[in-house]
Amino acid sequence: MSYVDEVYSMVVEKNPAQPEFHQAVKEVLESLRVVIEANEEAYRRDALLERLVTPERQLLFRVPWVDDKGQVQVNNGYRVQFNSAIGPYKGGLRLHPSVNLGIIKFLGFEQIFKNSLTGLPIGGGKGGSDFDPKGKSDREIMAFCQSFMTELNKYIGADTDVPAGDIGTGAREIGYMFGQYKRIRGVYEGVLTGKGLSYGGSLARTEATGYGLLYLTEEMLKCNGKDIAGKTVVISGSGNVAIYACQKAQQLGAKVVTVSDSTGWVYDPEGIDVALLKEVKEVKRARLTEYAAARPSAQYHDGKGVWTVKCDVALPCATQNELDLEDAKALVANGCFAVAEGANMPTTMEATEYLQKNGVLFCPGKAANAGGVATSALEMSQNSERLSWTFEEVDSKLKNIMVNIFHNLDDAAKKYGMEGNYVAGANIAGFLKVADAMTAQGIV
Ligand code: NDP
Repeated sequence: MSYVDEVYSMVVEKNPAQPEFHQAVKEVLESLRVVIEANEEAYRRDALLERLVTPERQLLFRVPWVDDKGQVQVNNGYRVQFNSAIGPYKGGLRLHPSVNLGIIKFLGFEQIFKNSLTGLPIGGGKGGSDFDPKGKSDREIMAFCQSFMTELNKYIGADTDVPAGDIGTGAREIGYMFGQYKRIRGVYEGVLTGKGLSYGGSLARTEATGYGLLYLTEEMLKCNGKDIAGKTVVISGSGNVAIYACQKAQQLGAKVVTVSDSTGWVYDPEGIDVALLKEVKEVKRARLTEYAAARPSAQYHDGKGVWTVKCDVALPCATQNELDLEDAKALVANGCFAVAEGANMPTTMEATEYLQKNGVLFCPGKAANAGGVATSALEMSQNSERLSWTFEEVDSKLKNIMVNIFHNLDDAAKKYGMEGNYVAGANIAGFLKVADAMTAQGIV
């Protein structure tokens, strides 16, 4: 058996019932095959792949809190510190009822390569809880966040592990967690990113993932003789990534005609009204039915359906495995020529292969959504310097980073004979830097 296959079998055997983690490892190892085979002896001797797929540390803890009726609730808390070869662990905290150890491990594993691709000194980690923020009062959110941080604070710090937001963790949750960290540890430091502007946050961090997705998409299209201006774009999700992807796509002259949430989706042939979407989602924290009710041109549909809409470019920005083979077939049949992932692993492996085989330009999330973590790293730099940069300064650094990421993965794909395969390019470019650092640091 080849080294890659041996390690993949070991992952499945040692991590039962974690399908998302298996999927992430499989996708990465498959595309690294050519690089691994070229260095097999040394990698095997150092058990480099075994170490790469095994987290340095996995923390699981109880999160008790009291709801508004006086009832004690208990959630599971997680922090997986996956790989610190190139810098302190960095990665978001997901608050969603679907969260389990396998999901956090898949996200933490992806984060290693994503963070490496940014070119910044940050290692990979991820965390979260099966807590559901939906329908909770502000007091309940605060109670949960304080209890979560009461345990998590023991394992994180500005130079060791710096969490950020993710699904369900926005500025409000980061604020409550930061307050609790400061209270317990007695230090004012950049231990979390995505902070509010009044206490160490970075301008443009809120916009960064969505904006970065469009900067990279624009560059990918440009390098393939196409232009984002004038194109029809479909977007899924209506959270942080989706909203700012929508905004930047429109600023670049594209028309975005869909958004979705976990209950339904909206088709708006006149183009999504971003100001209204922000009001519904960021201010009222309401469902998309309210968007449709306030916008005569919009049609609301229950369930899933964004990928059936005719488009040039598709940007999945909600959650993992939301774009499957049937969806990929519908996109191709409708003439879609580019897909870039705003979410983490939103496209199944079968769908990815189908899109690539049918000539669709496909950029994986670990590259396309890296703008969020890259700007988080810029927030860390500003906190260390005790300075704040202007919006324009951060935004222009973000744009440079995204353009560089695209060229790095494009070059890596070409170098290893897989021109145009941006999945392979991203995995190879991300891996080589981490592997080099791990080798240099000895067996740790
Ligand atoms: P938000 O919580 O702000 O928004 C998530 C959106 O996806 C919501 O519209 C939500 O709908 C929808 N959604 C969530 N779970 C499901 C589901 N199971 N089925 C259908 N729809 C769902 O999260 P973000 O925008 O921050 O994150 C979106 C994706 O982007 C995630 O994969 C995240 O890991 C990734 N990402 C985020 C970054 C960031 O900076 N925020 C950085 C890099 C990647 P509803 O409101 O109904 O739940």
